[in-house]
Amino acid sequence: MKILVINCGSSSLKYQLINMETKHLIAKGLVDRIGLAGAVLTHSLTSGEDEVITADIPNHTAAIGLVLEALIDPKYGAVKELKEIAAVGHRVLHGAHKFSASVVVNDAVMEALYECIPLGPLHNPANIAGIEACQKLMPGTPNVAVFDTAFAQTMPDYAYVYGLPYEYYEKHHIRRYGFHGTSHKYISQRAPIVLGRPTEELKVIICHLGNGSSITAVKGGKCIETSMGLTPLAGLLMGTRCGDIDPAIVSKVMTIENLGVDQIDNFLNKKCGVLGVSGVSSDFRDLGAAAEQGNYRAQLALNMFTYYIQKYIGSYVAAMDGVDAIVFTAGIGENSSSIRAAICAKMNYLGVSLDEEKNKIRGQEIDIASADSRCRILVIPTNEELMIALDTVELTQ
Ligand code: AMP
Repeated sequence: MKILVINCGSSSLKYQLINMETKHLIAKGLVDRIGLAGAVLTHSLTSGEDEVITADIPNHTAAIGLVLEALIDPKYGAVKELKEIAAVGHRVLHGAHKFSASVVVNDAVMEALYECIPLGPLHNPANIAGIEACQKLMPGTPNVAVFDTAFAQTMPDYAYVYGLPYEYYEKHHIRRYGFHGTSHKYISQRAPIVLGRPTEELKVIICHLGNGSSITAVKGGKCIETSMGLTPLAGLLMGTRCGDIDPAIVSKVMTIENLGVDQIDNFLNKKCGVLGVSGVSSDFRDLGAAAEQGNYRAQLALNMFTYYIQKYIGSYVAAMDGVDAIVFTAGIGENSSSIRAAICAKMNYLGVSLDEEKNKIRGQEIDIASADSRCRILVIPTNEELMIALDTVELTQ
């Protein structure tokens, strides 16, 4: 069975076609600059060849049309006909309070998706456009919506209600939702397998550290706390996002810079984080190189990133009354042995000790703690697309 996974951003679209019998990737690609001049589709087969197609791509329907043409192209296609694709799984950013699990899309679901737009104004319209394009271009093929917010829906009320008048939660659904749920869910299912222990008895802290970063506390397989909030701006210091700050800073910066609502939103999402602190880059490889050259602000940004994570881990140990394993995943979590080591350096209170040789290994699921470490430290490469495809199969079979 073949499942197409689609991840629509406002001006981009990523896709993967996955063989679910083998769990192997058949083809993948990226459409960039949708609605802009110079739009391009890069279609890659597992053989490693890339086919670059430049075309006029005014909207997501046109983008998906081009992707489907590429998938059945006699020269570089991956299937003979679209009927071979059993279902399509769509990443949807915000499911608000309406979705606590993935769903097969029908009219009622579409209506609810539109109602979620105010909470995900930048991403949800693109996610909806992707679903509608597939409904139009692949009639009869089921679509499944998989939400970034669903995994954290198991949090207790005292973890997700904010200290605002309660009617803001009741009327406007302002609460902590959490994001990166597909990644956290995938890792929460892999961790017990890597540890060889039953899910029900485990307390796990998952550190998804990439361009956007979030941490989740998972007890008995269920998320009980997460660092992102109403939006993906909250929590850790990120590439360009500020993470947790004193809320009064928002009006202060608006006054200093004479900014409107959209401008302050853009500022907090795009100009802050390690980029803003360092003035160097949002990419941790650039920061590491600059810090090695003695750049004070690059080193400060790295120290802040590490420190925020250490504080979050400590608070999640308290929230779960213990921890069995801490997992690192995503771009930084999977690749940076130095950042993992820096984070773990302040975990004597948990009896953590790292195996330095194992910490150097990349690209595989591994326990990098030394044999005598009381808490296990894992690296597990995330696979959000496979998780979306697995949910899609489960719901459409
Ligand atoms: P992601 O959002 O999960 O794709 O992660 C992207 C981020 O991972 C990039 O911005 C880089 O900062 C970071 N990254 C990737 N490889 C490395 C590495 N070897 N060392 C440090 N950071 C890395």
